[in-house]
Amino acid sequence: MARDFQHTAVESKWQDRWDDENVYHVEDAEVDPTYVLAMFPYTSGNLHMGHVRNYTITDAYSRFRRMQGDDVLHPIGWDSFGLPAENAAEERDTNPRDWTLDCIDTMREGMRDLGFGYDWEREITTCDPDYYRWNQWLFRRFHEEDLVERRAADVNWCPSCETVLADEQVEGDDELCWRCDTPVETRELDQWFLKTTEYADELLDGIDDLDGWPASVREMQRNWIGRQEGATVEFDVEDHGPVEVFTTRLDTIHGATFFALAPEHPVAQSIAEDDDAVADYIDAVDPDADTDEKTGVDTGLTATNPATGEQIPVYVADFVLADVGTGALMAVPGHDERDHEFAVKKDLPIKQVVAPEDGDDVDVSEAAYGEDGVLVNSDGYDGMSSAAAREALEADIESASHETNYRLRDWGISRQRYWGTPIPVVYCDDCGPVLVPDDDLPVELPEFVNTTGNPLDAADEWKQTTCPECGGDARRETDTMDTFVDSSWYFLRYTDPHNTDMPFDPERANAWMPVDQYVGGIEHAVMHLLYSRFVTRALEDMGYVDEPEPFENLVTQGMVRLDGSKMSKSKGNVVSPERIVEEYGADTARLFMMSAAQPERDFDWSASGVESAREFLDTVYRLVTERPTETGESDPDVDEYVAREVDAAVATATDEYEDLTFNNALSEARGLASLLVRYQSDATPDRDTLERGLSALVRLLAPVAPHVAEELWAELGHDGFVAEAAWPEPERDVSDHDLERALVENTREDVRHICDVADIDDPAAVEIVVAPEWMHTALDLARDADGNVMGAVMGDEDLQQHGDAAASYARDLQESAEALPDVLAPEEEYEVLERAAWLVEDEFDADVSIERAEDAPDDVASKARPGRPAIQVHEE
Ligand SMILES: [Zn+2]
Ligand SMILES: [Zn+2]
Repeated sequence: MARDFQHTAVESKWQDRWDDENVYHVEDAEVDPTYVLAMFPYTSGNLHMGHVRNYTITDAYSRFRRMQGDDVLHPIGWDSFGLPAENAAEERDTNPRDWTLDCIDTMREGMRDLGFGYDWEREITTCDPDYYRWNQWLFRRFHEEDLVERRAADVNWCPSCETVLADEQVEGDDELCWRCDTPVETRELDQWFLKTTEYADELLDGIDDLDGWPASVREMQRNWIGRQEGATVEFDVEDHGPVEVFTTRLDTIHGATFFALAPEHPVAQSIAEDDDAVADYIDAVDPDADTDEKTGVDTGLTATNPATGEQIPVYVADFVLADVGTGALMAVPGHDERDHEFAVKKDLPIKQVVAPEDGDDVDVSEAAYGEDGVLVNSDGYDGMSSAAAREALEADIESASHETNYRLRDWGISRQRYWGTPIPVVYCDDCGPVLVPDDDLPVELPEFVNTTGNPLDAADEWKQTTCPECGGDARRETDTMDTFVDSSWYFLRYTDPHNTDMPFDPERANAWMPVDQYVGGIEHAVMHLLYSRFVTRALEDMGYVDEPEPFENLVTQGMVRLDGSKMSKSKGNVVSPERIVEEYGADTARLFMMSAAQPERDFDWSASGVESAREFLDTVYRLVTERPTETGESDPDVDEYVAREVDAAVATATDEYEDLTFNNALSEARGLASLLVRYQSDATPDRDTLERGLSALVRLLAPVAPHVAEELWAELGHDGFVAEAAWPEPERDVSDHDLERALVENTREDVRHICDVADIDDPAAVEIVVAPEWMHTALDLARDADGNVMGAVMGDEDLQQHGDAAASYARDLQESAEALPDVLAPEEEYEVLERAAWLVEDEFDADVSIERAEDAPDDVASKARPGRPAIQVHEE
């Protein structure tokens, strides 16, 4: 298809010029640039549409802020460690490093082709020792603060490959090794943990201040931390002594009809030693099985309820999770759904001990009643509210004490893999685990060797080292860090990426942090964002940063779908960004993405949407390049109408860009473009008004379609880059613009409707009569009438003079008293229509007159209302 401009030539020309002039670089000396950041990409090979969307959002926003006069920090880097690189290297018979660096080159080129304005001097690559040495440095600092712990934890183990597997390498419901299909086992290994739980309260309470974050993400973080207020209390298990449980519902303790232990609980294990049935059950039960079916075995033992002295049966059951609470629970089937289900299955008693506060009856044999209420069947506590009973029981039961419980766990960072940051520890037979001193960092990865197990384990030479403490023989830690460590502080490194003494200069970080606008996928709502918050808070406590929260505003962008489903290579429904850029240009791809939906929403990729975006750019291109240089005498009313529309479009689009609702901003730009097309073709345009409109239009498009905007900005005769031009500003007060636009649109619609109904093909003249001033007065009185509209209106002496007409209008107002329209002042209404008359003239090819009611024939004038002029269409 013929195009009005050659996107490939235009785009590469401007990309070169931006590079030559270093347009997107921000100097270290800047005081506090606006920090706009997209979550950096995982280096997987090619850019996909999700990337394009994510990076266009931050690019458009940073361009907007830069044109608003801000210094803008908009950096990019590469999240380049991780298991997929190892797998890819193996498949392609190369090594993770070469494969990753190739991916980075491809993606960097893709980003350049899309015109993203990054400060490339701040590019960071996490698999580069210049970066990951600081992970090791931070590990030491965390260790000094007692925020690092080494302890045993379960890992997936393939007995055939004799290696640890990541969760992603365990396949299917049967949990088979991805490489050899052997059933995977669980093994306990010593691993390193960062103590996120020390910050659980801070992380939770800090969420309240994150009002620039989506409510959904804040809620997900709250749930992840999962703080629960409750109590611990001990039940005495026959032959085994006291076993502690945690409960948030101590008020229901009188309803505990059985006691249950997780299969992994030490007491369950100990019971199993003497009880074959229990032992068999524990052997058979699969702790990871994802079934709703609850199973359990009666141990034949009893536990003593500390509130009642009652003996209740003890079960070992799989619905009790070892890592939730204490791994043991008092089961209250009357008031807990899971306990209820198990009780029904095992035919255990169900007892009601809480009744609804409103006195309603509930039948707990049918379903558990889980709400708080008033205590019943609870001895001396009957009649108490649940909350009061919890407090009383906590005080009365000797073994009970208040406890806050969390779902949050410490962050296990050990990965038994090659492609990550080596954990800077050596093991000495005499000194045990010893941290590698700062001066010996980084501990660099050895050359990759292809092996079924952990390549670091196979790197014998690398593994052998000396103990920093005693100088004796020692071996290196062969685990590497979780790649979430890399991404938990990278936003700080961008502020000072070349520092060789520290991960960043605290002074610089403090001047530039927090990130003003962060954008990324909802899949990072918990882990990445929580780890980043944890690390930042820990660094604050260590004095490296002042701000406890790293990201002030957050947008989580929605998916780009194809035919309603997520684009993915495995489904084969992928639209390649490269192909779109080649065929339509980067500006078109960006414009379509940003027009299709606001950032949070999912949207469907559509060929027609892409085509329409391109056509729009062609229209704008023609509009500018084919604009008349000589014009005749223009109509001042028309010019004023256009000038006001320019102002209104600028004002509205500016607000929308501020809110990152690019789709709305762009629809303003589209509206402005079509008006300017008509202004050129259907009126005699005033040169200055037209040029101003075009220059505003080009700048409104510049954040999203930066290349064609540069081209047209130059075409309009401006020096310098539009990327660095000042954002347009309205010259008039356009605060009433919505009303003005609605008045014009409704009036045009009414004319169309009349022609339609009266079957007028070719109107000769259109008379538009605005309502008299007294009606506006009446409307104002009605608005303040507080119910009695008739009285308020007809009580006015001036209005009484308008007799029947006033009374009839007052009745109308009374009827619609709940929804009185907002209207312009009478003289404004007249002027707005005067200025817009050319649009009607042009559309209907008819003479148009705008009249005041007093100058118009009574029969027409009487139909006019404020905000709704009377219209008379005359035929030939
Ligand atoms: Zn295997
Ligand atoms: Zn030693």
